[in-house]
Amino acid sequence: MIYLPNTNAYQEFVVGLKEAYPFVKIRLRSKFWLTRWLDKTLLRASKYSYITTIGPNIYVPDDWQSGSDNEKFIVLYHEVEHIRQYMQWGLENIWFGTIMVGILYLLILPMVFTMRSYFEKQAMEQTAIAMQIVGYNSEAHKNGFIQFCIDMFTSIEYLYMCPFPKHIEEWAEKTWDNAQNTIGVTTI
Ligand SMILES: [Zn+2]
Repeated sequence: MIYLPNTNAYQEFVVGLKEAYPFVKIRLRSKFWLTRWLDKTLLRASKYSYITTIGPNIYVPDDWQSGSDNEKFIVLYHEVEHIRQYMQWGLENIWFGTIMVGILYLLILPMVFTMRSYFEKQAMEQTAIAMQIVGYNSEAHKNGFIQFCIDMFTSIEYLYMCPFPKHIEEWAEKTWDNAQNTIGVTTI
């Protein structure tokens, strides 16, 4: 099977998102006190900190609209996994779920396999699928994805949520290959 990249993926996804989770809002982070505060303090130096999902709100940087549809699609595909996690852990109540996930983040803090890395791995699986849906499926994209995961999981960006580069590298490679099989991508 030859899979052709879906050039309308973003538009279709936004429509589907509104149907599935009508309460989800995309907001600019500069307009919200908590993300403003996070930007100024804890996350000041972090390059991956610009998109955060808190409850039903996906906070995006101010230049969100100028991003390409493909980039926005990949970001939302990942963040919606966090919405699903909140819904699941909150027994369909998103704010309850956000608190539950927050508690799991904070309380279960061995430095190796944290709950945080468990949640983030689920979301990165969606990132790998989204990249391939829009045709980002070359070797360079694969290597970029693996490197991104290593940076994200094993550095201070996410408080060293799983500080084992070799483990993350192997996991990321497998995740990428699984995503490729899932959506039946054939590179042409
Ligand atoms: Zn995430």
